[in-house]
Amino acid sequence: MEQKKRGILVVFSGFSGSGKGTIMRELLNRYASCYALSVSATTRKPRACEEDGREYFFKTNEEFQKMIEKNELIEYAVYVENYYGTPRAYVEEQLDAGKDVILEIEIQGASRIKEMFPDTLLMFVSTKDAATLKARLAGRGTEEASVIEARLLRAGEEALGMEAYDYLVINDSLEECVEEVHSIIRNEHRKMARNHDFIHRMKEELKNFPKGE
Ligand code: ADP
Ligand code: 5GP
Repeated sequence: MEQKKRGILVVFSGFSGSGKGTIMRELLNRYASCYALSVSATTRKPRACEEDGREYFFKTNEEFQKMIEKNELIEYAVYVENYYGTPRAYVEEQLDAGKDVILEIEIQGASRIKEMFPDTLLMFVSTKDAATLKARLAGRGTEEASVIEARLLRAGEEALGMEAYDYLVINDSLEECVEEVHSIIRNEHRKMARNHDFIHRMKEELKNFPKGE
């Protein structure tokens, strides 16, 4: 029996306020059967609308350190004074089950993932300009002014690493952006380099035709 094709590991990064969370929610709403979204662990405090185990697994510093010591995280990073990390078990399970697994993580984590798993697809999302980014981040109303400032400063640093990504998507119309993200991932499945098993099988089957037919 042919083995189930392993899913693609997708990293989805972007400036704070660029719409990562919104896009992921909508992508999963529309295409739940295609994707598994990894839920990260963090030491950041939950926002009013967030639930433990849904947006994040909210941890104390001690709990997070234990996860690191027990090698339960594939990668982790510090972002604006908090730890964030990707739990290992879920990602491996879902890739094996043939799902495309999306990690919504920042740029340092993305670069570690790419080192460990070179065939990871890296996507970066931005607003169309910096003023829109600031307006969306402030408009979300979930962070105080000093944190917004720190996140915008961090966005400036992250912009220096954008070119290491495979794709840039602009979140102007949410509708179009979600469809674009979906189609980039669908197209990635069609790359020859991701279809070795199919190519091998087809070659073998074709060998069975008698010569001259
Ligand atoms: P991130 O997860 O990247 O920090 P969010 O998904 O929280 O960003 O989005 C930041 C804010 O921008 C939220 O208030 C969200 O509702 C809003 N937003 C997201 N996408 C759009 C869009 N295409 N047009 C207008 N507002 C948007
Ligand atoms: P937020 O506090 O806005 O939810 O997330 C802050 C940043 O941390 C975002 O850039 C988000 O993508 C990133 N992030 C979330 N989870 C992880 C993770 O598991 N690992 C890493 N490296 N970054 C993460």
